[in-house]
Parts: sequence; structure tokens; C-alpha cells
Amino acid sequence: MNKVYIDPNKCDRSVMCRPRRSCPEKAITQEKLGLIKRGVAVIDLEKCVACGECIKLCPHGAILMKEASVGQRKKKKKK
Ligand code: SF4
Repeated sequence: MNKVYIDPNKCDRSVMCRPRRSCPEKAITQEKLGLIKRGVAVIDLEKCVACGECIKLCPHGAILMKEASVGQRKKKKKK
């Protein structure tokens, strides 16, 4: 299965994070560091279904998807 992950260097830690608010599985969370301060977004891979919605919504390109099948295809070619 594809895996979605966040580049912490690109995440702006916004309190208004659209991917977090729009995730249909509520798989994205941010630590509350104050009234208007949040930590880096984190994806719970147990909840994430790799739908890709958050990737489309992040204005900083901080959310990426790693396709599981790419690695498997490379391994098969080496044989
Ligand atoms: S890929 Fe879909 S389910 Fe996974 S974190 Fe993004 S919006 Fe949520």
C-alpha cells in the first residue's frame, strides 16, 4: 500500500492547516503549542487510507506519497 508522509522542513505548522481539517479519516494531527501555535503535522498511518486529498490541499508541497509498488518493481528487474 502507498504511504503518505510529511516533510517537516516544508510544513509551516499553520493552525489553519487545510490538509488536517479536510482529511476524511482524521488521520492528521498537530500538537497544540499555544493558542495560535501548532507543531508539525503528523499522519497516523493506522488511519490513513492514502486517498491523496491532503497532498492536493497542502500549499507548500509538504505532504508526499511513496508508492509501494515502485520499490517492488525495481527489485523484480534486478533478478
Ligand atoms: S492521504 Fe487521505 S487519509 Fe491519508 S492523511 Fe491524507 S487525506 Fe488523510
